Amino acid sequence: ERRWRQAQRILRKFARGCATPAAKLWLVANDLASEMEAGLSSSDDGDTKLRMRVSYHAPLPTGEEKGTYYGINLRGTNFVIVGARLDGKNEPVSELRKQEIAIPSAITANANSTRELFDFMALELAKFMSAYGEPDSDEAQAREQRKLGFTISSPIDQLAPASSPTAIKCNNLALDHTVGKELADEINQALNKHGIELRVFAVVNDTIGNLAGGRYYSKEASVAAVTLGMGTDVAFIQSPKPIKESLKSAEPVINMQWGNFKSSHLPLTEYDTLLDAKSTNPGGRIFEKLISGMYLGEIVRRVLLKMAQEAALFGDCVPPKLATPYLLRSPDMAAMHQDTSEDYEVVEEKLKEIFGINNSTPMVRETVAEVCDIVAERGARLVGAGIVGIVKNLGRISNRKSVITIEGGLYEHYRIFRNYLHSSVWEMLGSELSDNVIIEHSHGGSGAGSIFLAASQTQNT
Ligand code: ADP
Repeated sequence: ERRWRQAQRILRKFARGCATPAAKLWLVANDLASEMEAGLSSSDDGDTKLRMRVSYHAPLPTGEEKGTYYGINLRGTNFVIVGARLDGKNEPVSELRKQEIAIPSAITANANSTRELFDFMALELAKFMSAYGEPDSDEAQAREQRKLGFTISSPIDQLAPASSPTAIKCNNLALDHTVGKELADEINQALNKHGIELRVFAVVNDTIGNLAGGRYYSKEASVAAVTLGMGTDVAFIQSPKPIKESLKSAEPVINMQWGNFKSSHLPLTEYDTLLDAKSTNPGGRIFEKLISGMYLGEIVRRVLLKMAQEAALFGDCVPPKLATPYLLRSPDMAAMHQDTSEDYEVVEEKLKEIFGINNSTPMVRETVAEVCDIVAERGARLVGAGIVGIVKNLGRISNRKSVITIEGGLYEHYRIFRNYLHSSVWEMLGSELSDNVIIEHSHGGSGAGSIFLAASQTQNT
């Protein structure tokens, strides 16, 4: 039928626009590698496209750390308290416990309430610690040496001067006091006030925590961490190369907002251009709009809407809900994509539930699953290209082992996405070199990085 052919034409055109053959991925990887180079040598402090900042100067774990450690990961509307034991010798953490605590809305609603927030956290931490309990041997850990790891799940700028008016926006929680140092002081006051014998030494981005975790398990090889959830972000250890003066320190950890990456080689389609134009930050975070959990479902929705409008994919009327931006979330997209039932029953169910589409045929559902596949494949392969670009910039495409730790719901829960990512790296590097690029899920999962930051700080007080 004519309409069906039209739908297939739209599908094929979209697939062509999203194609990422290995040669194209290399162009993307090379562009990222050279932008990183430009960012590191730029005298214009951190204001490059990728917003690269030295974000952490303190030592990272060696893998020998032993004892009971605590950490806090602050997110938009909640925080996670983590406790764990490390036994050194790169032994896996044991007795890992996490508790997620919602921040009362009275605190999140008030932009000037960091003091109340930290008081609340301190009280919750005290409860957590007494429930967690510590073996007697740990009592011997010198009290004043004990550190609390503290991470925030959104970019934080430690280089800005303390007086800078830069507000740290942690999703909808606006922290009024700006920079990490100041924040740490305030948290320490709250800990002190409540008699908790732990001190925060630095407030850093969660991605840096994940890198610290990678380090505990493999000190030599662990070079980068990637966050891949709703948003995306990278931390890596700069290899000893001449870099700009202000970035010189023993082993500087650099936070890179690779979501801002742009390249003429990125396979952008008309749907991406429209998504960007209608977004809250047009022109910004182009790479993120192709790869992160926030946007994948929205790209799919836009393609389905076009097929509904121009090829009546779902019947004569365009289902009204299909026109609602961001209605399709990536977990639902993943469920449709990974539907293995013969008649795409999961797709049928999701179309009903999300868009009120009740009359889909198996052929139509198959088309929906194909759109999901195209979007996920492109996103995952671009992440792979980005990782290869980082490894290249670090001069590690070689027979040396490099470990990249990934954390985030998209990587953890979207199996086909993860598989596409891994196979793109293999395709780009060939089987021998790709054996040395090890992409792993973070140890201990979300928020656990704070534990490793706390542990590394016992080395040098
Ligand atoms: P954050 O929201 O801080 O990024 P996470 O790292 O837990 O937190 O990532 C959650 C994101 O991961 C979700 O917003 C979603 O985009 C994605 N995600 C979670 N579960 C799935 C899933 N099953 N399939 C695909 N994407 C998922």
